[in-house]
Amino acid sequence: MDISYIINELAEDRENYYNAIAPPIVQSSNFAFKTVDEMRKAFADEYSTYLYSRGLNPTVDILRKKLAALDNAQDCLVFNSGAAAIFAAVLANVKSGDHIVSVNKPYTWAQKMFNDILPRFGVTTSYIDGTDIENFERAILPNTTVIYLESPNSWDYALQDLKAVADLAKSEDIITIIDNSYCTPIYQKPIDYGIDLTLQSATKYIGGHSDTVAGVLSGSSAMIERIFNSEYMNIGSGISPFNAWLLIRGLRTLPMRLERITQTTQQVINYLKEHEKVEAIIFPFDESFPQYQLAKQQMQGACGLLTFIIKATTVEQIEKFCNSLQHILMAVSWGGHESLIIPKCSGMAATKFNALNKEHRMLRLYVGLEEPDYIIKDLAQAFEKYE
Ligand SMILES: *Cc1c(COP(=O)(O)O)cnc(C)c1O
Repeated sequence: MDISYIINELAEDRENYYNAIAPPIVQSSNFAFKTVDEMRKAFADEYSTYLYSRGLNPTVDILRKKLAALDNAQDCLVFNSGAAAIFAAVLANVKSGDHIVSVNKPYTWAQKMFNDILPRFGVTTSYIDGTDIENFERAILPNTTVIYLESPNSWDYALQDLKAVADLAKSEDIITIIDNSYCTPIYQKPIDYGIDLTLQSATKYIGGHSDTVAGVLSGSSAMIERIFNSEYMNIGSGISPFNAWLLIRGLRTLPMRLERITQTTQQVINYLKEHEKVEAIIFPFDESFPQYQLAKQQMQGACGLLTFIIKATTVEQIEKFCNSLQHILMAVSWGGHESLIIPKCSGMAATKFNALNKEHRMLRLYVGLEEPDYIIKDLAQAFEKYE
């Protein structure tokens, strides 16, 4: 399907709403029936009828069809956060006594679910270095039901060979789930490699304006219907019609925003690589990246998010650098219009800082939609502020 068709037309039944270009926000909690028989049918199959907006909603449906098409998936569900999409995907595929194999350091709240919540219900998780397929083979147990991936990871960008992991999982009857937030479906389509469920935080690039928290989960019709009828309806974490409408609006400009960010990111990387105060950069599409070949093979692009290791001997130098930035904001998240930075040392006590540990000197930069020079000049003046 043509990407312009998906973004501009798919699922937009304009004749049903006055030929309006922008779809209506159907801000209704419930839907009425003319006959008892219609109502009976809706109760029997809430997955195919508008009954109550914790289930289906017309505005959300427009968004679902577009997002599923972008993922090359049969269907998808949209949640009111990426974390909710992660939780529903995993919960739907484990029961007491099951085992999960997860890549090291997945998204924080995925880790909390694996470490704190699931063990209470008798589900255990083994973490592995996902850069080597043999680690998956070794970690799989007879009771493994889920392999959880995040490729690239959103701090060190470690990748997994998606086709190899999917093939292995299929041979063992294990469900594969991937967090695809870094790439979005524009730059990586995990379902094409045989991954069962792909999810992303739509808070990032899909929303694109730092004003909506949301998550997407895509997969086969059978799997998505099963999750809809249990976890989705039961946890009640579906997206609201208004937030769905914001995401439809975000989608209109997604490819061009990514294109622009891709170009600017390259310019920022070129600048950082030449800077005397930068020890290294970590970015999947940089030739220095250890899995560069794999990245080029399974991703159509990389953009926005990169990590650089700053040359510093004290935590104060890093703080001085960050505190001196005038336009790049210090904040979590990414994927919006604005450039952002997070120093790794903000997540630890300053007294624990050890300059010999490269990780402590990592800064994660998100390159936004500003003029490239505006971002580079801001970095330049901040580098000058510390010796
Ligand atoms: C932000 C993020 C999430 C969580 O999404 P929310 O929308 O914040 O709940 C999951 N995975 C990755 C990689 C993220 O960056």
